[in-house]
Amino acid sequence: MVAIENYNDILAPLTEGVDWTVAAACRTVANASDLFFSDEFADIGAAKLVCAECPVMAFCLEEAFGRAEPCGVWGGQLFEDGKIVTIKRKRGRPPKIARPQDQLPMVPIPEHLMELVA
Ligand code: SF4
Repeated sequence: MVAIENYNDILAPLTEGVDWTVAAACRTVANASDLFFSDEFADIGAAKLVCAECPVMAFCLEEAFGRAEPCGVWGGQLFEDGKIVTIKRKRGRPPKIARPQDQLPMVPIPEHLMELVA
């Protein structure tokens, strides 16, 4: 079995000139900009769940990195100043009532894009 080292080398010729945004799941969401650019954790969580089911999530996330998105949910991740916002749980015993930010859904980053996160 041959290991694939760079998916982009394989996918780029196949997707060149293709407008992947036509398949974006957020296109079907009413008032999507209110949801995807909200400061409310409930909205951010809802936006991330839409992304989690989006067939073009990897393309969206890669382009968001490329544009250094200043804010919003893109590709299942919350961006701030071009970087993914990671919300870490505090040390010690978990609180009896979880903080809203701890309840955000985790949307996995595709493996071939992990190098962009570091
Ligand atoms: S990953 Fe999220 S923000 Fe990107 S196109 Fe899909 S639904 Fe929209």
